[in-house]
Amino acid sequence: MEALNAVLQQKIEVAPGLCIFRIAPLGWSLPDFRPGQYCPLGLPPSAPRVPYSEPPEKEGPADQLIKRPYSIASSSSQDSYLEFYIKMVPNGALTPRLFALKNGDRLWMREKVFGMFTLDDFPKDRNVIFFATGTGLSPYMSMLRSHLMADSGRKWAVVHGALNSWDLGYRDELVLMERFCSDFKYIPMISAPEKEPVPWHGHVGFLDLAWKMNYVDQAWGLKVTPENTVIFLCGHPMMVSGMEKLLIESGFTPHSKKTPGSVIKESFT
Ligand SMILES: Cc1cc2nc3c(=O)[nH]c(=O)nc-3n(C[C@H](O)[C@H](O)[C@H](O)COP(=O)(O)OP(=O)(O)OC[C@H]3O[C@@H](n4cnc5c(N)ncnc54)[C@H](O)[C@@H]3O)c2cc1C
Repeated sequence: MEALNAVLQQKIEVAPGLCIFRIAPLGWSLPDFRPGQYCPLGLPPSAPRVPYSEPPEKEGPADQLIKRPYSIASSSSQDSYLEFYIKMVPNGALTPRLFALKNGDRLWMREKVFGMFTLDDFPKDRNVIFFATGTGLSPYMSMLRSHLMADSGRKWAVVHGALNSWDLGYRDELVLMERFCSDFKYIPMISAPEKEPVPWHGHVGFLDLAWKMNYVDQAWGLKVTPENTVIFLCGHPMMVSGMEKLLIESGFTPHSKKTPGSVIKESFT
């Protein structure tokens, strides 16, 4: 089994079952990465699970690390730790073990990063809309933290969907970004407003509504088209496929290295 080559520097609870993890390498240097890429994390099967988890759906061999990929949320200029925004899956193999870690505990982090879900392929004058559910926000935090202040001349928008307001991770930081950067708009949406202890005055519903009701066009004050905007989709696979279908009906085309287009996606399961 590989050595546990990293340490949990800080765990920040966003809401029950939602945490930000800052993980530092032990005795090696973090690789350069492009914002939007991901890095695998792992723990041995002998690592304890949180007591409030459920029996795991599947467990691997006792002599192998349990490994899963996670999108990096930190800026590409942050070279002392990688930050991850992770949701606990109660019957999952890895996340109930990750959530049981305390600051200073060891884990495994791959010394390489992966992925093509980046801004690299798109000209700097194309506007960008980031659609995310839940922890699908993670790669966008890295892109915004790395590029927002440096790339001028393009408009940016984050449309973030969650069940309730307390599940809208990074909300304070995104509100601040919006205040400091007039080219950036933050559009949070919740789908269970009846559970809010304080009335929610923002947008309600699922992400498709934001598209159908032109929330971004209104926020930017211009018509969003496949010619002027690239759309990123990240998070729950059903959201990603549903939104992609809707966007294709509106004239957007799937992007790949071989066939440049106007919609790029990353599904989390
Ligand atoms: C490229 C990539 C990047 C990713 N980045 C992130 C990230 O930044 N943050 C993050 O939280 N996750 C991310 N994921 C998902 C992550 O890799 C794991 O799949 C997830 O954490 C569950 O792992 P687990 O071992 O606890 O559950 P598993 O044992 O793998 O799964 C148990 C069961 O839960 C289901 N399941 C898995 N994930 C979810 C989910 N999110 N919601 C509901 N059910 C689920 C599985 O289909 C399975 O039925 C990413 C996945 C990919 C492919």
